[in-house]
Amino acid sequence: MSEAVIIVAAGRGLRAGGGLPKQWRALAGQPVLAQTLAAFADAPRRVLVVHPDDMAQALALTGGTVTLIAGGATRAESVRNALEALEGSGIETVLIHDAARPLVPHEVIDRVRAALREGPAAAPALAVSDALWRGDAGLVSGVQDREGLYRAQTPQGFHFAAILAAHRAHPWAAADDVEVARAAGLPVAIVAGHEDNLKITYPEDFDRAAAILRARRGDGMDIRLGNGYDVHAFCAGDHVTLCGVKVPHSKGLLGHSDADVGMHALTDAIYGALAEGDIGRHFPPSDPQWKGAASWIFLDHAVKLAAAKGYRLGNCDVTLVCERPKIGPHALEMAAELARIMGVDPSRVSVKATTSERLGFTGREEGIAAIATATLIGG
Ligand code: MG
Repeated sequence: MSEAVIIVAAGRGLRAGGGLPKQWRALAGQPVLAQTLAAFADAPRRVLVVHPDDMAQALALTGGTVTLIAGGATRAESVRNALEALEGSGIETVLIHDAARPLVPHEVIDRVRAALREGPAAAPALAVSDALWRGDAGLVSGVQDREGLYRAQTPQGFHFAAILAAHRAHPWAAADDVEVARAAGLPVAIVAGHEDNLKITYPEDFDRAAAILRARRGDGMDIRLGNGYDVHAFCAGDHVTLCGVKVPHSKGLLGHSDADVGMHALTDAIYGALAEGDIGRHFPPSDPQWKGAASWIFLDHAVKLAAAKGYRLGNCDVTLVCERPKIGPHALEMAAELARIMGVDPSRVSVKATTSERLGFTGREEGIAAIATATLIGG
């Protein structure tokens, strides 16, 4: 059967916020409308009904791959415009779908198609499972029997000639095309809808839709791992700064900033998890403004960059390698200071130390090395 899909996107629905009609707002990096069109990519013919003001934008989005029709003052008028435009083009069945339902699963579309092989009209719906109340002034005023009640979804499918005739006979507004079809006496079969086939209406619906998209892409739990390694040489001094804690010592650490080798390794681990290079990329040593800078500035930057990219710290583990000073008595304070800078619970931060059995440069007490691992959780 020759099929056309009509996607109704002419509404000006601003309840979803963002100052743009919801079908033009971005969902997971693409306009809602682009996702809706993609759900019907296999349809032989797609017709998009848009507000007359949005024609140029719609053409830019679709690049001539769909037929564009100017919408009317009501949803019913918009659908009628599209049906009239399709008349005489050999279309036998038509699926009419809300642009604001971008996540319609393919199985729902196929159920409607299958039902149209048996009858003139079919639409997906979900039986109401919650108890239903009537309310008045914030109080429950009655209970509504939910038996036989359904939540209607789209696409609503019809034999083309039947729904065109029904729309011509029903020139006034209607909630949806099932109402128009029933007014013309068409039996409308109910097929199983899907909870993912939500209609984006309110701002929070975007979050729900984005979560469903992430889960479909298999990246609902995006876990990233990074490592960092740093070394600073000892120099003359009376203390070292390690993981933000000043520790008295017979030497200092030589470095461009405060030479906090532990915090540098941790910062590089976070940049590494983000595939964002290292401290040197973000705070070039050639730039004199970072000379002597406190290292918390670097760590704070890495954590904020992670947050801007949608990640939070899962946990981190820092190992300091030195013979002296002894780290053990300061380890908890160091972990607490790192946790404070990163804005996470201290239980997510580990600081520990080891010697190198007097071997190598750390064994000879020429400097301190640090390694760090960090996980970031996105999504
Ligand atoms: Mg360093």
